[in-house]
Amino acid sequence: MQDIKKKIDDLRAKLRYHSDRYYNDDAPEIEDFEYDMMMRDLKALEEQYPEFDDINSPTKRVGGKADNSFEAVEHTVRMESLQDAFSKEEIFDFDRRVKEVHDKVNYVVEPKIDGLSVSLEYVNGVFSRGSTRGDGDTGEDVSGNLRVIRSIPLKLNKTLPFIEVRGEVYMPKKSFERVVDRQLTLGEKPFKNPRNAAAGSLRQKDSSITATRGLDIFVFNVQQIEGYELTSHKQSLDFLKELGFNVIPFYEKVSSIDEAFKKVEDIGETRGELEFDIDGAVIKVDDFEEREALGSTSKFPKWAVAFKYPPEEKQTKLIDIEIAVGRTGVLTPTAVLEPVHLAGTTVSRATLHNQDFINDKGVNIGDTVTVRKAGDIIPEVLCVNEKNSNGNYVFPSVCPSCGEAVVREEGEAAIRCNNPECPAQLLRNLIHFCSRDAMDIEGLGPSIIETFVDNGFINKISDIFHLDKDKIAALDGFKETSANNIISSVEKSKDNDLGKLIFALGIRHIGAKAAKLLSDHFKTIDAVMKANTEDILEIEGFGQIMAESVVDFFNTEGARELIDELKALGVNTESKTIITDNRFEGMTFVLTGTLENYKRSEASKIIESFGGKTSSSVSKKTSYVLSGESSGSKLDKANALGIPVIGEEEFEEMINA
Ligand code: NAD
Repeated sequence: MQDIKKKIDDLRAKLRYHSDRYYNDDAPEIEDFEYDMMMRDLKALEEQYPEFDDINSPTKRVGGKADNSFEAVEHTVRMESLQDAFSKEEIFDFDRRVKEVHDKVNYVVEPKIDGLSVSLEYVNGVFSRGSTRGDGDTGEDVSGNLRVIRSIPLKLNKTLPFIEVRGEVYMPKKSFERVVDRQLTLGEKPFKNPRNAAAGSLRQKDSSITATRGLDIFVFNVQQIEGYELTSHKQSLDFLKELGFNVIPFYEKVSSIDEAFKKVEDIGETRGELEFDIDGAVIKVDDFEEREALGSTSKFPKWAVAFKYPPEEKQTKLIDIEIAVGRTGVLTPTAVLEPVHLAGTTVSRATLHNQDFINDKGVNIGDTVTVRKAGDIIPEVLCVNEKNSNGNYVFPSVCPSCGEAVVREEGEAAIRCNNPECPAQLLRNLIHFCSRDAMDIEGLGPSIIETFVDNGFINKISDIFHLDKDKIAALDGFKETSANNIISSVEKSKDNDLGKLIFALGIRHIGAKAAKLLSDHFKTIDAVMKANTEDILEIEGFGQIMAESVVDFFNTEGARELIDELKALGVNTESKTIITDNRFEGMTFVLTGTLENYKRSEASKIIESFGGKTSSSVSKKTSYVLSGESSGSKLDKANALGIPVIGEEEFEEMINA
């Protein structure tokens, strides 16, 4: 019995953990199917051992919670979840339970959209508030972000005293591809799937960001209504259309469970071709009075069931492995397959993730493999069924895009190309090169860089310094003045300190601060390029990984060529830090709180001009903590370690002495 209790507790803990990742972080770590199977196991155990029942079990609660960064909304009508079914038998069981209460019912079948549930309220026909589902009782007020979704009517076609509707906000597949592409270009962590992308986009603090994400909505329910009588689901969906809502597509009223299941199968057949993700189909009792009699559990209504399409698996032959270089330089392998029909689409490619994955599965070209497609996720190779080759596939040792040697860093699964001039990584490297902490080229933001690349003005980093004013001015949306401004910011950037240039090169593990330390220590780019790992390790704060990364970077031919070109173009490659005198030599300052007379960056410059260093964290090696208004934990740590804390006045005394 103890074993059972432990199993139940373990499952509950796991489900809570994954529910948190999914609903609150919008970053699931496991597939939905895996989650659903754990939930099923837990339900079965709880049914078999009711003595371990718990009102707070994940089987009894609607997942998610209201984040306190938005105002809370108490839902007058509970936003329930749905009971799920994974087989025809379970759908017929549902029908049997319904028939215990009603002899004959009509059902409405509709697709189950994979997005996030929202409620929209309208007073006198005007949109007044919109909120997320949260835990079903309390959600978050996201009205501002919902207003920017164009298909949500702000005014209805008919004026009713009050109506609350429920719908699913989703990210169309096209928008998802665009958003992820952008995230990868900017070096951000991409969303895992359209559902998480929709949830993450709707819960943005800044609705102008939400507006760029291309979200959409399907409305599928009337929660409350005043001034109009509705008696059935089909009638309410038709009415919602008249009001101007984007109503759930393909809904159909049927009179038997056989017809309902046939419709579920039909919807399943089309799912690969739809513009949006669905993770199932929902069968709902049509008549509202009949629904009333059936009632609800604490989590879901007893009058509806969601059929979840299982991930489909099929065997096929792996005919090739293609290696693509991503914009961060990571090499990703894709299996090219003999096409198979899977989950409504023809699958001819599947992800192989990385070399470790290939080794684990023992995959090579020529093998027969099983591929799986789980809803929205890209198909992946599950296992090898027939080994027709020798050994496992091995990654190439050079980048397929630029031919430079690739590296695999210790502790990392990814194999990457570090060449800053690699064409596959160009856009991302350019954006980083021009960004504020790097070369700070005002006017050359991500979208303008993209335009210049698309127009063939920039094919490699040094082309930034060859930009032609007249060609820019001739582009759509540009004028003489904007072209002039860009050219003068490019010119100005040539005078930057070496630290900014080193950071701009985008060397892995080298942030702005480390770049400045390299510049201060070695003084010229030539000295940095000549340095070996030991030389670099002499700099305080540098570890083995950082030092090796610098050496590896300058070992690529692309990097050396780039530096030569930049020098020839007049870009400064020397440190500009002028040491006034060495009174702070060997000292490290940590700055905390708000200073009255200096920006932190100014105070840092002064410290450096006297030969000192600044660091972002307090340690035993810290010489002084310079503390301003509202200092926090750094001050506490300094006090605990007995590090001298100085204020602005004392600092001024030290520099003016
Ligand atoms: P659910 O998604 O299974 O079903 C309820 C939801 O379906 C409702 O909130 C509703 O908004 C939505 N819906 C879409 N179209 C609908 C329609 N036509 N009619 C009615 N409702 C419709 O239930 P849930 O409780 O929101 O979430 C559970 C789901 O989340 C499971 O699929 C589970 O796999 C997934 N999940 C995954 C993880 C993970 O780590 N991968 C973690 C937690 C939950």
